[in-house]
Amino acid sequence: MSALEERWSPEENEFTTKYTQCIQCAFVTDEPFSCELYQQSKPEFVLNSQRECPKFKSNNPIIISSMDDKTKEIAGGIFGLCTGDFLGLPVEFGTRTERILDPVTELRAYGTYNQYFGVWSDDTSLSLCLTESLCEGYNPSDIASKFIKYADEGYWTPNGKAFDMGRTIKQSIENMKEGKPPLLCGMKPEENNGNGALMRILPAAYLLKNETDEKVKIRIVEEICSLTHAHPISKLACIFYTETAIRLLKKDLPFLAYANAIDFVLKHCSRMYEMVMPLYSRVFSGTLQIMPESKVKSGGFVVESLEAAMWSFLKSNKYAECVLKAVNLGEDTDSIASIAGGLGGIYYGIENIPENWLNMAARKEDILTLCKTFADKVYK
Ligand SMILES: [Mg+2]
Repeated sequence: MSALEERWSPEENEFTTKYTQCIQCAFVTDEPFSCELYQQSKPEFVLNSQRECPKFKSNNPIIISSMDDKTKEIAGGIFGLCTGDFLGLPVEFGTRTERILDPVTELRAYGTYNQYFGVWSDDTSLSLCLTESLCEGYNPSDIASKFIKYADEGYWTPNGKAFDMGRTIKQSIENMKEGKPPLLCGMKPEENNGNGALMRILPAAYLLKNETDEKVKIRIVEEICSLTHAHPISKLACIFYTETAIRLLKKDLPFLAYANAIDFVLKHCSRMYEMVMPLYSRVFSGTLQIMPESKVKSGGFVVESLEAAMWSFLKSNKYAECVLKAVNLGEDTDSIASIAGGLGGIYYGIENIPENWLNMAARKEDILTLCKTFADKVYK
């Protein structure tokens, strides 16, 4: 039995979840191993961990046409980030050379964490915790309590278990559990500047879209970031990214949103962030889109991740192109694709996320319900 076949072995009981099944296999079930085709012939396409079953068709597809415009706007960004996350997850930590030899062009499964199709990671989990909390208004203690639930109980995870929590997030959630004030829980050392706050800041853009007081806007983003990442390098990335997303929500074209976000940061953050501004010189030069791919780093350091995500977004003309570009940079593929995918989802809209990807998302109905609730609350 090959390694790939083993991955389909029924002993791997984490697959017994409520994932959508291939409707054409005529076997809709909670248990993928009950798939009739699999039982009879163990077809090659099922055993190949690199591809989705080509017969897949969701049994319960998301109907975009029935959504109201506000829900659509929110679902665009949220599903945009989620889809980037699960597209990148199977190849997380793979090098760029691996991706050049074996580029991701379609949805994959298994890989790095041996997860099923459409399973997303901490990037999405924490974004959904934040979204849910913001439905009741902005309250750092409530966000912190949802993060604790995520770590302890697998709250807002596809399988009920947090499987890839970053070091900084783990430490700050430990601080929250010890009862420290939430805004003092984030890690301050310079080494704690992974992309863990940037990858979950997108919902703040919806909350702050119509905030006219720049100081309030900046403070709230800084605080949400500080729950886990309290260093100015991380905060500046979150401010810039949130502003880019807000500009896209206000219908700026990508390059204008980019230019406006740069103006915003230079105008409002130059003094306070003077020490860390030089790290972002390439982002703030306004020329990321002409940077050759060889110069784009794609690791977990927040500056790299922001550059890589912006580069992928600015260099693309479609949602799929944006997230695949991000994934094929290699390294921190799930986070970079989810950061890029959040912007791509807002700009191109949920109707332009490939249907077979969107419908593969684990817990898609729950996510959609949350988007609807959030739309009712933030756009009331
Ligand atoms: Mg992740």
